Amino acid sequence: MSDTLMDFDEAVRRYDPVLGLEVHVELGTVTKMFDAAPNVFGAQPNTMVTPTSVGLPGALPVVNARGVEYAIRIGLALGCEIAESCRFARKNYFYPDLSKDFQTSQSDEPIAFDGALEIELEDGSFFTIPIERAHMEEDAGKNTHIGGADGRIEGASHSLVDYNRAGVPLVEIVTRPIEGAGAKAPQVAAAYVRTLRDIFRALGVSEARMERGNVRADVNVSLRESPDAPLGTRTETKNVNTFRGIEQVVRYEIQRQAAILAAGGEVLQETRHGQADGTTRGGRVKSDADDYRYFPEPDLVPVAPSREWVEQIREGLPEMPAAKRRRLKVEWSLSDTEMRDVVNAGALELIEATAAAGTTGQAARKWWMGELSRTAKEQEIGLEDLPVAPEQIADLQALVDSGRLTDKLARQVLEGVLAGEGDPEAVAAARGLEVVSDDSALLAAVDEALAANPDVADKIRGGKVQAAGAIVGAVMKATRGQADAKRVRELVMERVQS
Ligand code: ADP
Ligand code: MG
Repeated sequence: MSDTLMDFDEAVRRYDPVLGLEVHVELGTVTKMFDAAPNVFGAQPNTMVTPTSVGLPGALPVVNARGVEYAIRIGLALGCEIAESCRFARKNYFYPDLSKDFQTSQSDEPIAFDGALEIELEDGSFFTIPIERAHMEEDAGKNTHIGGADGRIEGASHSLVDYNRAGVPLVEIVTRPIEGAGAKAPQVAAAYVRTLRDIFRALGVSEARMERGNVRADVNVSLRESPDAPLGTRTETKNVNTFRGIEQVVRYEIQRQAAILAAGGEVLQETRHGQADGTTRGGRVKSDADDYRYFPEPDLVPVAPSREWVEQIREGLPEMPAAKRRRLKVEWSLSDTEMRDVVNAGALELIEATAAAGTTGQAARKWWMGELSRTAKEQEIGLEDLPVAPEQIADLQALVDSGRLTDKLARQVLEGVLAGEGDPEAVAAARGLEVVSDDSALLAAVDEALAANPDVADKIRGGKVQAAGAIVGAVMKATRGQADAKRVRELVMERVQS
């Protein structure tokens, strides 16, 4: 049964959307949060487990200090207060991927709370996201349902469980209700999670690879009649792990809920699931009465990070992505729009690495946003997946700067580099693409062109300097574009006047 939807523009004219985002990030620690099992992705199922990962009777947890440090880093980067002391709690529920029958999490004592994050939208406007808390917890294992459609449990003949992920450290970041986004709500949601992803990477706390599920968002959406009305009933769409998916879910829920409200109906408070086609599908009806019987974890002591440690972590924080963008925009003398294009193209790091390898930001940007963007688009791959290293682009530009390649020749060399023919220097040599700077070779070509066009030569002698263009053109053609046109012109004038 397909949902009735209201046109999006009409929906946001008639109703005020409110968002709530719960973002989970898997931390890149060496071991799990409460035991010494390795925290690795993609290993043989059930090889990365200890008795504690799967909660065998009598197995005891120990807190991973690096996990706590990473959580503090995240909290500080989001402008949060760091708790003087906080505890873990058991969140009790049954599911086959959670063999302990409870998730070790934090309930009313999160490690970080009361923060805010400023995000920049694709149109260049800014929005502040209020952060309620960031707390530590552990991931569950992974169920794989066999035999049903789309890997869903419905219609499956059996299920497999892999506990390698059980106990992997997570930090969950929960926003306060996000108000005032209006028609931009879908973009705000996606930009927020993208900003978090960039921050996780900058902080070095996670590889934050969306396609591996390192970062997943639960997307809460509700509508209300007006910004002064009390909050409406929300739905929560679980585990969305693409930026596009997040945007689509918000959009879809706004349209779906608006249609229900406009028809005089009530939105059901429920957990929904995002579909590949950008819609959401109803699931478990959820009420605030959901009771996980949270209680303090008796096997773990409270975590009480000293203020000295917290300050030390704060001082060690790297430059945040937004500050870095502002700095590089100035260093590279880019306009706001140019910088935004760079960021949206995912070229920032590549340009930065290219510039660091010894060229200017401007030159590096020209390559990555020009020729390389075009090639990536043609091949339908990401810029970072092109078979060329930033150092090679810097080397290529150095050949241009030293006059050994013209822009046009450099593009041909790049073609060779992308085809796997080697470094720019090697490709230029192998393909014979360097600028002919040897005057005697050029003079021979000039003399030949003058001899072949005696009338043009006469015109130049007669003072029609612009006629020299035809000779320069002939020489460029004869040298297959490998001559420096400026030098050729000089030689033509010398020859004609002598
Ligand atoms: P749960 O434990 O059921 O996931 P939380 O209290 O953690 O619920 O809240 C989920 C998220 O939804 C939070 O980000 C919160 O700010 C947000 N939220 C709460 N009420 C609403 C609402 N009416 N509309 C939209 N978002 C909401
Ligand atoms: Mg939730």
